[in-house]
Amino acid sequence: MGYNITLIPGDGIGPEIVAEAVKVLEKVAKKYGHEFDFTKILMGGCSIDATGVPLTDEALATAKASDAVLLGAVGGKVGNSKWYDVAPNLRPEAGLLKIRKGLELFANIRPAYLYEELKGACPLKDEIIGDGFDMVIMRELTGGIYFGERHTEEVNGVLKATDMDTYDENEIRRIAVKAFEIAMKRGKKVISVDKANVLDTSRLWRKVVKEVAADYPEVTLEDMLVDNCAMQLVMNPRQFDVILTENMFGDILSDEASMITGSIGMLSSASLGATKLGLYEPSHGSAPDIAGKDIANPIATILSAAMMLRYSLDLDQEADAIEAAVKQVLKDGYRTVDIMSEDAGLKQVSCHEMGDLIAERI
Ligand code: NAD
Repeated sequence: MGYNITLIPGDGIGPEIVAEAVKVLEKVAKKYGHEFDFTKILMGGCSIDATGVPLTDEALATAKASDAVLLGAVGGKVGNSKWYDVAPNLRPEAGLLKIRKGLELFANIRPAYLYEELKGACPLKDEIIGDGFDMVIMRELTGGIYFGERHTEEVNGVLKATDMDTYDENEIRRIAVKAFEIAMKRGKKVISVDKANVLDTSRLWRKVVKEVAADYPEVTLEDMLVDNCAMQLVMNPRQFDVILTENMFGDILSDEASMITGSIGMLSSASLGATKLGLYEPSHGSAPDIAGKDIANPIATILSAAMMLRYSLDLDQEADAIEAAVKQVLKDGYRTVDIMSEDAGLKQVSCHEMGDLIAERI
């Protein structure tokens, strides 16, 4: 079957890691009889250089018309690049905001998976890690306190700041549906995280999530307070399958969950909306310090491509094949420099060699 995929290589290591993901996708296409039609668009610093803006309307229209979008990363060296000292709407990152808004993406998914072979990078004790953990954090992306009204005023000579936290039931329902759909493709367990002992937004969250759960009798639902969840992530991470939560709690908990997996070069992510169209990208940035050296770890981008197959194209078997190939490469002892260790039998490989090794194992 044929699919249209928009590629955004972006800046820094972006073009290198996206090229490796394409290599793996082409192998998947060959093996499973699919046709992936790739169209590249500019976004970020490279788009500013070529067009004067971080994302043109035409490029956005191309992304909108496709089945899925795969992104490397955008941006230059923080504090020291030609794109840094310009108006906020002309910075590379403005391209990211524009595409997320343009594609109406309201759900962010970040998996936290511990590979047996990379256990050494996990800061938790062996008895806590056990045989590893495998969870996804589903974070609401466009509502809550980050998008509420805010102001700072002076009241009787004292400065006072206010941020409004607001959710309506529709915003909660649409992300809850996404979470239950994703749980159906995984371990069929949703833990919904809130602060319902204090916040009205959390009470509404709990009520609506429970209503949605009624449509998914195969999935178990558990409510957990956010402070408890922060503790449970480091005390018993194996209990989690899908964590569903609002914008600010998700921002914090997804960073905590990714830290316990150890390596930034391994972490994929997806942003989804109401339709199947999604944006898939590694959780890391454009790593300008190592750009052009062929040493970046392409695995986060390759795993993002696997998520793209699973969530936007419904190609679960093909996504499993990519994830299995990544596991096998690690088992065979191949490492890029960021995940290399002193352990015996390991072989350090470049970015493009890692792509080749994964593609060979599809
Ligand atoms: P970064 O994630 O790019 O790099 C942090 C550190 O991790 C660096 O030492 C880098 O070499 C290393 N690293 C990151 N990815 C790696 C990989 N795949 N393999 C090996 N090592 C890797 O974060 P930063 O330096 O704070 O930001 C650099 C630029 O990226 C900035 O312009 C920032 O705005 C941008 N950024 C973009 C996105 C995005 O496109 N979604 C996300 C975060 C940061």
